[in-house]
Amino acid sequence: MVCKFCGAPSAEGAMVCSACLGKLSGELVLREWSADPRSDVRSLGFRSACLRVGPSSQGEVLLGRGVDPYLLVERTLQSEDRSHLPTVLDHYLAGAGLGLHLMGDEQVPLRAKLRDLVQIPDNHDYQGERWGRALLRLGNLLAISARDASRLPLGEEGRRQAFAERAARAMDLYRRAGEVSELSEIARANLAMLRHWGGEHEAALNELKELANTEGVRVQLAKAYWELGMEDQAAEAVSSAEDIEGAILRLRRGCQ
Ligand SMILES: [Zn+2]
Repeated sequence: MVCKFCGAPSAEGAMVCSACLGKLSGELVLREWSADPRSDVRSLGFRSACLRVGPSSQGEVLLGRGVDPYLLVERTLQSEDRSHLPTVLDHYLAGAGLGLHLMGDEQVPLRAKLRDLVQIPDNHDYQGERWGRALLRLGNLLAISARDASRLPLGEEGRRQAFAERAARAMDLYRRAGEVSELSEIARANLAMLRHWGGEHEAALNELKELANTEGVRVQLAKAYWELGMEDQAAEAVSSAEDIEGAILRLRRGCQ
C-alpha cells in the first residue's frame, strides 16, 4: 500500500508510512465517538457561575476567574498559587465526562487543549485523594486514546505501537493514583480494562472479578464481558447492582 499523506510505500494494511506514523506520536488521538461537542456545555449547565450568582441588583457582576471551567484550569496553571490545581482539574474532568472508573464509553470535549491536560502530571505532583482522582481521570483519557488510536488503519505494527505508547502513559498515571490507598482498587480495575483492550482478556477478567465488590467495578466487568460477546455473564455481573437500570443503561452505552 502507499501512504495517504506522502505517497511513500507503507506496510500491509497501513494507510500511513512509518515516517508519517511518527508524527502521530504524542498526539492524543480520539475518534469521533469518544468526543462530544456538548461535553463542556453539560459541565457549564450544572456548574454555572451565573446560576450561582443569581439575579443581581448591582448591574455588574465581576467573575474574576471566568465562568468556563476549562479557563479556570488554565488560569490556575498560570497563577503563582497552584495549590488548588488538583481540585480544579478534578472538577473540570469530572464535569467534562471522565469518570473515575474507565468504562470505554466516555465522551469528552473536542478541545485541542486536552493534549495539554494530559501533560500536567509530567510537571506537577501533589499529595492526596483529589490529585489521585485527577490522575485517574487523565489516565482514562489516555486509555481511551490508546484504544481509539489502535483502531486506526495503521497496519498491525503501527496499531500496536500507537496503543503501547499511550497505554504506557495511562499505566504510569494509574500507578501514581494507586499510591493513594482510597483509590488503589479503582486504579487496578482501570488497568485491567486497559489490558483487556490490549488483548489480555483473561488476565483482565480475572482481575476485575477479584475486584468486583463495588458497583463501579461490576459495571466495568460487565462492559468487558459484553465487548467479548459474553452477554449472559455481562447481565449476571450487573444483576446485583443497586441501580440496576442505571447499570444496564451504562452497559449498553457506546455499543455499536
Ligand atoms: Zn507518509
